[in-house]
Amino acid sequence: MRGNGTDEDAMSERRTRELYYEDGYQTQFSAQVLSCKEERDRDFSVILDQTAFFPEQGGQGADRGVLGGRSVLDVQVQDGVITHHLDGALPVGATVAGTVDWERRYDFMQQHTGEHIVSGLVHHHFGYDNVGFHLSEEETRLDFSGPIGEQDLLRVEEEANRAVWSNLPVLVSCPEPAQLSTLSYRSKLELKKNVRIVEIPGVDRCACCAPHVRSTAEVGIIKLTGVMNYKGGVRLTMVCGLRALKDYRNKQSCGEQISRLLSVRQGEITEGVRALQERLQAAESENQRLSEMLLERQAASVPGPECRRHALLFVESAPQGAMRRLVNTWAGQYRGLAAIFSGNDAEGYRFILGSRTVDCTALAEVLRAQGFRCGGGKGYLQGSAPGSEAKIRAILQEQ
Ligand SMILES: [Zn+2]
Repeated sequence: MRGNGTDEDAMSERRTRELYYEDGYQTQFSAQVLSCKEERDRDFSVILDQTAFFPEQGGQGADRGVLGGRSVLDVQVQDGVITHHLDGALPVGATVAGTVDWERRYDFMQQHTGEHIVSGLVHHHFGYDNVGFHLSEEETRLDFSGPIGEQDLLRVEEEANRAVWSNLPVLVSCPEPAQLSTLSYRSKLELKKNVRIVEIPGVDRCACCAPHVRSTAEVGIIKLTGVMNYKGGVRLTMVCGLRALKDYRNKQSCGEQISRLLSVRQGEITEGVRALQERLQAAESENQRLSEMLLERQAASVPGPECRRHALLFVESAPQGAMRRLVNTWAGQYRGLAAIFSGNDAEGYRFILGSRTVDCTALAEVLRAQGFRCGGGKGYLQGSAPGSEAKIRAILQEQ
């Protein structure tokens, strides 16, 4: 399938007619295959004489769909050449049918047109430029060159939706250079010719090559969903159309589930979660108090310093802070080691160990040789120990 004939190379250099410029609603088309190359396993790059597949550009993901019975996995454009990446080969010279995935295309058209409305309004009110745009199935992200406060964002959001309700036309034109020079419009590139102007009267005028809906009403709803400070400006996320409806459904479902779980009315779930948090904090500090009390009781079973060199205690679990305090106290009382192990024989133990007399650096070496993992400093060690209580006791008794 590799193109090696000069005729084929000459054909592939022909510029592809961009049907998506002419009509964003066209999903069916037929085209001639100019070239087909196998890039790697199950990735064939195909160039057509014309295409309705919008390639990835300007931060917006490419269309998907079917071409000549093959799945369109991606569409890229470089130096004006549009390449379709397919999961199978197409015969060069053949005429093939293409179908653009309309669900995805229309979703992108709604998000993208909503982005024009918001960017136009932000530019109008604050003079900021849209300096970054990302549109994928997961997210629509807009970066603006200056900060916008919370109240101003609410105002922009409401005004954007008023533009939707006004059912304004989305006008596309390619003005002659002379006429273009008299127009003011938003643009990321300094283009002089073949500039495609997309205008929403009274809201936005912008140079843009992507497919848009015909009227702002088709955007359905514009909802800003997030804002963060970004490079001296702001980064917004937004949802429009069906995506906004799905987002609403999801949030409603979350609200309903939380409401049921907390047994409070939906309007009171914030108070419900706060009350739950307070109960949790109270339970945690009570648990801490009881655990420390339990450790004290268990510590009472350890034979005193008058009859033992080492103080060794094995417990199922204990708070780290309380373990550390007790080990410190014991280290001052016992002649040998003071150590508390928390865990069980099957899963191993975590431990804290202290001593005023034993060289802990040398002891660490001995313990590591027995499979312990530990670190520490002068007079103390902590880490984890494998094996059973009996084995650990035997190792430490020798010290
Ligand atoms: Zn656009």
